[in-house]
Amino acid sequence: MTDTLVLILGDQLSRDMSSLKAADQSSSVVLMCEVLEEATYVKHHKQKLVFIFSAMRHFAAELEDAGWKVDYVRLEDKANSGAFSGEVKRALKRHKPEKLIVTEAGEWRVQAMIDGWAEELEVEIECLPDNRFICSKDAFAHWASGRKQMRMEYFYREMRRKTGLLMDGDEPEGGQWNFDKENRKPLKEDLFLPTRKRFAPDALTQQVMELVEARFSDNFGTLSQFGWAVDRKGAEEALDDFINCAVAEFGDYQDAMVEGRPFLYHSLISAYINVGLLDPLSVCRRVEECFKDGKVPINAAEGFIRQIIGWREYVRGIYWLKMPDYVEANALDAKRDLPWFYWSGETDMACIRDAVCQTRDYAYAHHIQRLMITGTFALIAGIDPKALHEWYLSVYVDAFEWVELPNTLGMSQFADGGFLGSKPYAASGSYIDRMSNYCSGCRYDVKSRTGEDACPFNALYWDFMARNRHHLKSNGRLNRVYSNWDRMGDDQKQDLRKRAREFLDSLS
Ligand SMILES: Cc1cc2nc3c(=O)[nH]c(=O)nc-3n(C[C@H](O)[C@H](O)[C@H](O)COP(=O)(O)OP(=O)(O)OC[C@H]3O[C@@H](n4cnc5c(N)ncnc54)[C@H](O)[C@@H]3O)c2cc1C
Ligand code: SF4
Repeated sequence: MTDTLVLILGDQLSRDMSSLKAADQSSSVVLMCEVLEEATYVKHHKQKLVFIFSAMRHFAAELEDAGWKVDYVRLEDKANSGAFSGEVKRALKRHKPEKLIVTEAGEWRVQAMIDGWAEELEVEIECLPDNRFICSKDAFAHWASGRKQMRMEYFYREMRRKTGLLMDGDEPEGGQWNFDKENRKPLKEDLFLPTRKRFAPDALTQQVMELVEARFSDNFGTLSQFGWAVDRKGAEEALDDFINCAVAEFGDYQDAMVEGRPFLYHSLISAYINVGLLDPLSVCRRVEECFKDGKVPINAAEGFIRQIIGWREYVRGIYWLKMPDYVEANALDAKRDLPWFYWSGETDMACIRDAVCQTRDYAYAHHIQRLMITGTFALIAGIDPKALHEWYLSVYVDAFEWVELPNTLGMSQFADGGFLGSKPYAASGSYIDRMSNYCSGCRYDVKSRTGEDACPFNALYWDFMARNRHHLKSNGRLNRVYSNWDRMGDDQKQDLRKRAREFLDSLS
């Protein structure tokens, strides 16, 4: 007898989900479904599809081992309707439960569908909060109410107090809340870089790889270097690897970039946290332990913990506060098409080529590559933020709209007019030159601003500032930039804008 059907979505792969906690194992069936609608709403990177489907299949097995009855609908099942609603309706007919329990969805689109089921389906529906987050949607809305501008730093301090992470009584550990200024070192040429743990695909993952190659052959990305863990044990091993060989340097080199070295000292765990294979708070507690044991300096521990209980929670709060309109935001009125080299990597710009090619090969780029290479280029070139959002949502293994959209539209493209961040992340080539070794192998000259060989970032940066002055002039953080622009001679300004125009005209 089935009293309850528990719907587990593809990014809810934890036995601690509120939906599973609320159900009685002996009289419940867990429903998991792979649906074409979710696999195709953007053209996901092949590795992302393999990761999610394989992790779902492994999680179904984990639940069965733990005594749950699982009804799993595979993508290739003949009767699969291809849509969540269709699969839930079919499952209701099969099991005739009195109640459907689900944890709220991460993405607005899916939650709107769940909200619609109350009218559409003849079953009691219980939709529970997602207990993996430290700050609920309501708590964030309460924090945000009455504020004209959101600032992550203040929100983050509240999360530190709430969790007690890196707190010494009421004061922050180390005497300050934020050690970001210490986290901007470029990599020295001779620095030892650890080889990071990768995971060979098991039989189940190989089956999914075949399925994805057969059904999604046109999608971006290659599978040959697939090395993601697909179950809890693997995700924990990936976390151990980070703790053992990278976390101590995470802070110092968080913003560094090195050609051909995609992982550096980053944790590589965002995808595991986002789908439920790792618990964000437990991850932070492990890093805090390392600090307390004297194995990790405060700038690394604080920098890492801030990303998770600060930025990650903050962008989720903004997403739910601002959706569904947020996705259309375009405060700088940017309209240019996404250049083809975002997919092909075929460009003479060494920095973009490296970021795109490693994205194709690993479905991964670290934060500064996303923000200051592909993000900054799109910003200063005036690429349509929605097209860019769809690109980021497609190409990364960790990409879910609730976290990707505010990072892209708000943080990276300033398309929300400064609601999420205080100034646009526009930069010239000198930032990239300082933080990476890209420029030494580039066909362009990072020191030149005009002429055919000049680094395109240089002229585009000034062109961006000049053409958006009416939007940005009241931003006090840009006063110095505009006084530098005003001090330039007219010829210099015209040459910069001409170089920018010619470069933009050459894009396809
Ligand atoms: C344009 C753009 C798009 C992004 N899209 C995504 C996305 O789709 N999914 C995603 O999880 N992250 C996204 N990020 C945030 C960040 O780049 C990734 O979380 C990070 O690069 C993942 O690699 P890592 O696990 O090695 O992270 P690390 O550098 O080791 O950081 C540790 C952890 O902190 C969290 N984190 C770090 N920065 C952020 C941030 N800005 N927002 C939220 N969480 C953060 C992640 O959980 C990450 O695993 C995006 C950033 C930008 C600028
Ligand atoms: S010179 Fe310019 S385009 Fe080339 S790698 Fe450096 S920043 Fe990128």
